[in-house]
Amino acid sequence: MPHRLSLCALVVFAVACSPAPPPGGNPAPSATPAAPASNAPADVHARAIVIDTHDDTTQRLLFEKGFDIGQRHENGNIDIPRMREGGLDALFFSIWVPSDVTGPPAVKRALQLIDRVHEAVRTHPNDLVLATTAADIRRAAAERKIAALMGMEGGHMIDDDLGTLRDYARLGVRYLTLSHFKNNNWADSSTDKPAHNGLTDFGKDVVRELNRLGVMVDISHVSDKTFADALEVSTVPVIASHSSCRAIAQHPRNMTDDMMRALAKNGGVIMINYEVSFLSEENRLASEKSGGVVAALDQMSKKCGGDEACSTLESARLTRQAMDKGTLPAVSWEKIIEHIDHAVKMAGVDHVGLGSDFDGATMPIGMEDASKLPKLTTALMEKGYSATDVEKILGGNILRVMEQVEKGAGGASR
Ligand SMILES: [Zn+2]
Repeated sequence: MPHRLSLCALVVFAVACSPAPPPGGNPAPSATPAAPASNAPADVHARAIVIDTHDDTTQRLLFEKGFDIGQRHENGNIDIPRMREGGLDALFFSIWVPSDVTGPPAVKRALQLIDRVHEAVRTHPNDLVLATTAADIRRAAAERKIAALMGMEGGHMIDDDLGTLRDYARLGVRYLTLSHFKNNNWADSSTDKPAHNGLTDFGKDVVRELNRLGVMVDISHVSDKTFADALEVSTVPVIASHSSCRAIAQHPRNMTDDMMRALAKNGGVIMINYEVSFLSEENRLASEKSGGVVAALDQMSKKCGGDEACSTLESARLTRQAMDKGTLPAVSWEKIIEHIDHAVKMAGVDHVGLGSDFDGATMPIGMEDASKLPKLTTALMEKGYSATDVEKILGGNILRVMEQVEKGAGGASR
């Protein structure tokens, strides 16, 4: 009917409306051939699946009364409007409980944090969707929703119990950082005195169980020996969810060139952390003099009475103020590019990604929140990175690792 034909001429998906091809003939050409994908940085950023593997906004979800992730905020680094503006498609909410909270209280707090992530998703169904697989992330991006994932930051939260670890996996946790700032009963931390020479036998069982469950092993925060042990035991690629390069800033939380090469051989990915004292050696030295990042967080935690959202936001605010006043060396967002570029030189472009530490660290000047992320794409492309390489760094690499870890899951008792 003529009426139907005119409707077809109006619809965007011309192919779906094209008349059937004549028998044995070629299909009629569609009205407008698809334009080749543009490689302008803004377009590359928009079509890439941008994934951030470490974000501490979970503390605000738990501690800050009335905090609505759906509203734009003046403070902090993450909320839905700013994620939308920055083209952030997926983020791992960190399930983090301080190292000195252990045993059942740590488990209880971890469960509360997991609940808050699920609640944020439930109350923002048009913007957020819970994701536990690479396919979920791809689907969310196709539906123009932000994929919410969870990573657990600190092995102490499993309370030395593989059953508790399995419960976390059932609730959707998709990576476990083996330790936090302090050692736990089975893994040494990079910022504590070695107690176990890396992983204990139970620590190695934790890695095997993570492999079996399809939960990623995260080596950010662990000692160099724990890192080596984890690589030896894991049968699938491991990740550093939020670490930078020690060759540039010598913080023990950062990875050496050799570690990055070993991580690449294992197939894993290092996700670059934006914390100023992990990005800049000058800033790190000055910050160490005043006690360092661990002491600063401890001090703030006491001041904020255990409200971790207050302590991380307050410590970030004071550090930024010190950079603005010149009492601490200022660090610019371009330093993130320097770390990405160095990691690519050491590990290769297939093994680098983004792990901001938004809402858990002090951001460099110019990377105040998630809305600034497109700057990274522009800067990398100006440096000569191809659109394909940038898409890998923005999210393609971690998607690959997730798929490999999911495929590796299984085993007799699953
Ligand atoms: Zn951390």
